[in-house]
Amino acid sequence: MDNIKNYLNDLKTLISFKSEKGKKEPAAPFGKECRYAINFIKSLAEKFGFTTIDYDGYCLEVDFGEGEEIGIMGHLDVVPAGDGWESEPYTLTEKDGVYFGRGILDDKSPMLSCLYCLKELKESGIKVNKKFRMFFGTNEESGWEDVEYLKTKTTLPKYGFSPDGNFPVSYAEKGMCIVNFYLPKLKNFSKVKGGTVVNAVCGYATAQGIIDEGLLLKHGLTVSKDGKIESVGKSAHGSRPELGINAIKKLFAYFIDCGENLEKEYEYLFGDGFSFSKMINEQGDVTFSPDIICEDETGIKITCDLRFPAPITLEEVLKKLEASGLKYTYSLKHGTQFVEKDGFLVDTLINAYNAVTGESAKPIAQSGSTFARVFEKGVAFGPEFPDKPSTIHEPNERASIEEIEKTYDIYKKAIFDLAK
Ligand SMILES: [Zn+2]
Repeated sequence: MDNIKNYLNDLKTLISFKSEKGKKEPAAPFGKECRYAINFIKSLAEKFGFTTIDYDGYCLEVDFGEGEEIGIMGHLDVVPAGDGWESEPYTLTEKDGVYFGRGILDDKSPMLSCLYCLKELKESGIKVNKKFRMFFGTNEESGWEDVEYLKTKTTLPKYGFSPDGNFPVSYAEKGMCIVNFYLPKLKNFSKVKGGTVVNAVCGYATAQGIIDEGLLLKHGLTVSKDGKIESVGKSAHGSRPELGINAIKKLFAYFIDCGENLEKEYEYLFGDGFSFSKMINEQGDVTFSPDIICEDETGIKITCDLRFPAPITLEEVLKKLEASGLKYTYSLKHGTQFVEKDGFLVDTLINAYNAVTGESAKPIAQSGSTFARVFEKGVAFGPEFPDKPSTIHEPNERASIEEIEKTYDIYKKAIFDLAK
């Protein structure tokens, strides 16, 4: 990067906007700090000689080139800074070659890098055979309303990438479904309760009922001061249930030993009753995690996180649920995302990554959901490098100058190669 000084200056300005979701104002649907961030990118892009379209503060589009369209989708909003920072989160702070600031990785510096790369492409004078359409969203972290709005105002490119995921390049994302199972009330237990959010393995659950010291010990359960049976597990992301210990599972094993007729439910929810283990392919496996349990007058409800890799469909997964005979409802959060691994898009991006890093990495599939799915054939491409602990959404979010420059070089090669 030859204009690193200007780049860091612009990054400093971008980080200074506290673009957490704020109060809706005219032309600022997600608060005025998100609006300021859009205004700043708009003036910068226009200074670089690009045309821009302001989608009423929901999203900003920056265009360059002529030809087949390539989308680049990212965001300027951030999750709240939270506690535990060693520097002021909204001041770009350098320490020993490492830059700190909320949103530096997610997603401000990668988006700024792509904009700078487009500027370099423009100044290179190379003949460009593509039309690049960059989209700066402002509501990625809290509901994707920016994308919903954008879709009502324009037709998005078919192909594109989002610098809001991981390197090397992720060509597939799982579909996600939330499933509720309904069980009748238990004979000997009541007030069953556990879990906080649907996408995290239940780490703590409680119930009231039979206290059997020996069986409590057997299942690793305890009794609280106010007489509640307590089950402590270990939380993990709902897409990786194998990394956690489900507190509801321990509780159910205890219930069964105390005479509850729950063997079938136990096998479906915590064994492999649905035979999901057989539904596996190159893009990954079907994961199933019962993460929240609650009880009311009508009975017990268990809410589960269910994910499936393409080309497995929702219908195939539902067939398994249906066959169980258990009472359930479901809601689809999103379908699967899949881009051909040997197509021009994935090929160009993985080659750019390998050329800059010297690696011989292969495209990956992932279980999370990114802005890549905004495009029919969209992939996630950076900025996080594999095998490095993530600081995204954490205090002291950071990137070293080497990482920033390496990321920049990867985007530059990718964008120049795509332009051909
Ligand atoms: Zn992000």
